[in-house]
Amino acid sequence: MSFPSESQLKLTKFGLITLFTLILVQCNRTDHTPCELEFHYSISDIDSGFGLTDVQVRQAVENAINLWSDAIDTIHAEKSPDANIAIRFVFDERQAGTNRAMQLEENLDIRRQRIDRMRADLLNAERRLQSRAEEHERLIMRINTHVESLNNFIEERNRAGGLNPAEVDRVESERAALNELQSQERQMRSGLQQKIEVNQRMLDELNREINFSNELADRFNEEVGPSRYFAGGNFERIGNEGTITIYHFANERELSLVLAHEVGHALGLSHVENSFSVMYRMIGAQLTRPELRLTDEDIAEIRDVARCAE
Ligand SMILES: [Zn+2]
Repeated sequence: MSFPSESQLKLTKFGLITLFTLILVQCNRTDHTPCELEFHYSISDIDSGFGLTDVQVRQAVENAINLWSDAIDTIHAEKSPDANIAIRFVFDERQAGTNRAMQLEENLDIRRQRIDRMRADLLNAERRLQSRAEEHERLIMRINTHVESLNNFIEERNRAGGLNPAEVDRVESERAALNELQSQERQMRSGLQQKIEVNQRMLDELNREINFSNELADRFNEEVGPSRYFAGGNFERIGNEGTITIYHFANERELSLVLAHEVGHALGLSHVENSFSVMYRMIGAQLTRPELRLTDEDIAEIRDVARCAE
């Protein structure tokens, strides 16, 4: 930018006076005081791929206009088929990609929950198996002790010349009790073996699930990574005619932001330098706030465009 020469400076002063007069004339004619803006729009071509109803779109557009109109005296918004600002929703790869990504994300969430449940189940099964195994261990010890003491008794009696009939009866009944314990032990062992196999299958399934989820997460990162920050909308002006095109949004909140940003352009606003601003050139920081609202920079910009008094 260069400074004007002296002759240009005079011309500028003259130009300012002319402009001022013109505004006065226009104000009288349209009965508008400054700090007001006009916004005549039509809504056309809502691609069905977005899954939005006409009412939802109309509401979203009205919300975007209201966001701006709250910062100045008023915006004379008018919806008519032959308005000079056309708003359209064009479904393309960007939105298709986002929808796919959201599906993947949902899918991943479900799988993560499933993995957590499977892990908890397996952990419980392992604990139960552990306590059963300890019970089995104790039973084996009991049987061994029993066998040992019975053998000692028989050996001792044999060295002393053999068992009397009462002792034979005792040995027989102890053998029967031992047989009973041994059959209990065999049952317990096969039950344990079955439980070990069941747990192994649970572990295999858990590992398969984890592998699958990891693959899904990789795909998610590949597909979603950069597309999150695509420009979701566009405003183009040719002469007096403008077109707002919405291409992409991840959710209702993001749609509100994209619409508010493009409506801002259509009202004549430029980008501002605060990443939390609606009129910042990128989408991201604004969505981290609890609600969509204008920053001081946004407000200064619209008040400037609407020629509001300080
Ligand atoms: Zn922009």
